[in-house]
Amino acid sequence: MTRPLIELRDVHKYYGDYHALRGITAQIGQGEFFSLLGPSGCGKTTLLRTIAGFEGISSGAVLLDGQDMDRVPANKRPTNMVFQSYAIFPHLSVAENVGFGLRKRGDLNAQAKRTLVEDALDMVGLGGYGKRAAHALSGGQRQRVALARALILKPKVLLLDEPLSALDRKMREQMQVELIKLQRHVGITFILVTHDQEEALVMSDRIAVMFEGEIAQLDDPEVIYKRPASRKVADFIGIMNFLPAQVLEESGAGVTVDIAGLGRAVLDAGQITRGSGNGAEAGLRPETMTLLYEGQSAQGEVVEGRIEEVVYYGDMTYYFVALPGIDTPVQLSMRNLFGRDVLAVGDTARVVWNPGSVMLFR
Ligand code: ATP
Repeated sequence: MTRPLIELRDVHKYYGDYHALRGITAQIGQGEFFSLLGPSGCGKTTLLRTIAGFEGISSGAVLLDGQDMDRVPANKRPTNMVFQSYAIFPHLSVAENVGFGLRKRGDLNAQAKRTLVEDALDMVGLGGYGKRAAHALSGGQRQRVALARALILKPKVLLLDEPLSALDRKMREQMQVELIKLQRHVGITFILVTHDQEEALVMSDRIAVMFEGEIAQLDDPEVIYKRPASRKVADFIGIMNFLPAQVLEESGAGVTVDIAGLGRAVLDAGQITRGSGNGAEAGLRPETMTLLYEGQSAQGEVVEGRIEEVVYYGDMTYYFVALPGIDTPVQLSMRNLFGRDVLAVGDTARVVWNPGSVMLFR
């Protein structure tokens, strides 16, 4: 992480009796693209609003650039927020919307304001749209207007509350890429609230995964995906097959487990996550298993099962394969390479898996 710009120190927030934030401690770096990710109601919007100053905290501290924000009202903080509903004024032009926050700036003359508006519109790819009526824009364009309006005030931190959730999938993916580029260009810290794990993985330098008012894991996307800190994080991020497992032996060489449906494996310490409760489960991502086709040789262990369900995505196919000894079929994904047939329900599947890609939750 770069120099910390925001410091959250044991932040607690109560709404009456309800404990919405339960001791949030984190540092967010200067110029970092940081995401708060978690299911609905986990407290991510509340946390964002406490950074913005729209919400007071019950205890702890929020520091911005080393300064305690405790009595600093929202409009005096170096933050700005972009909302889920674009909150632009439909009766104003695009330029008037973008320049809205500048209207009380006596230190800038009309020409200086116009230049700032034009620069901000260029930055979000809306150069030349200034005169257009805001109501005559598409959803994606409105979101850009909202971004330009937030950035024109040159905040140190831009807070984004599910900014893309109202867009259709294609537009959302396009805006994700543009937001990343924009953030690199302006170099300011972005904090994004999202419940969409794919969005968080795509966009973030680091992600705080939140459950029930607490941060369950704070890491970069790859670590969160490959080394989830708990079964709950593993289950929330991406797709994970959980199979019952039994630890047979522990030694210096590793932990020998018997995984239902698959067989025996020796795992090293880095593959094991300890949590509460008894028993063990093995976790396997769909892309860590493959199907063996005629004439191919296995790069790993092979078990035989039966295809129960086929979900075709064009570039990929997801297969649900029933294996002996387990109740729930395992889900695995295959790239649809040219010239390779998609297998059918009822076909025999030879599943290849690698002990090295197994995670064990104890
Ligand atoms: P979502 O993705 O649904 O917006 P979230 O993770 O952003 O969820 P928050 O909006 O931060 O969740 O809410 C966290 C919890 O605090 C929820 O249980 C919510 O009902 C509660 N809460 C939020 N605002 C208030 C409020 N003003 N008064 C009382 N409870 C509130």
